[in-house]
Amino acid sequence: MVIIMLGAPASGKGSVAEILSKEFNIPAISSGDIFRKYISEGTEIGQRANSYMTKGQLVPDDLTVELITSRLKEDDVQNGLILDGFPRTVNQAKVLDEMLTKEGKKIDIVVNLETPEEEILERITNRMICTNSDCKAVYNTVLHPSKVEGICDKCGSPLYQRDDDKLEKAKNRLEVYHRETAPVADYYKETGALYSTVLSKSVNRMKDEVARDVINYLKNK
Ligand code: AMP
Repeated sequence: MVIIMLGAPASGKGSVAEILSKEFNIPAISSGDIFRKYISEGTEIGQRANSYMTKGQLVPDDLTVELITSRLKEDDVQNGLILDGFPRTVNQAKVLDEMLTKEGKKIDIVVNLETPEEEILERITNRMICTNSDCKAVYNTVLHPSKVEGICDKCGSPLYQRDDDKLEKAKNRLEVYHRETAPVADYYKETGALYSTVLSKSVNRMKDEVARDVINYLKNK
């Protein structure tokens, strides 16, 4: 099973992916997390990626595709996977199609989380993430605050704000999203794999509903 999560930054892709990952017992692969891992390990690839990420720009397709291609060869994704944050350009979507076709696989569903425009920046700039890499729970200081400010409800670790979630960088990322990533949804519309849904402010109720709808759709397919 191959599931693609599309949507603006902080639209809830990771949260929905996590529910689907548990349900279908397949890994959720976040391209952003892959880059952040390379950065934290201090590798040359990480440094190259970081120079784009810190400006709120996309990492160039050649580097991104190289990392995703090698990740998709690993054993744990052979029975299925959820891609969160990839593809982010039409070119990446085309490369992914080629990759999957070669392996006799195809996309089962593209889940596009549409967020009302006026909410996107608010969501990005109020997002807080658990520092514990085994937890990575996501909060929003307005929509879904942790019970104790700055502390994760699930594991008690401190929360942090991603540097690229700060206002100026968030604005850049949003612009990039509209220019480069929104057309990916149109690309998938043509293939008929697109499942679009609007996630509004009540994100925590909605993400469960979206995940349930996707699960029902895939089980009845
Ligand atoms: P994310 O964690 O998905 O918000 O990604 C954080 C940053 O990583 C993005 O703003 C980009 O700079 C970079 N990134 C993640 N996925 C991709 C991708 N598919 N193509 C290019 N850059 C990416």
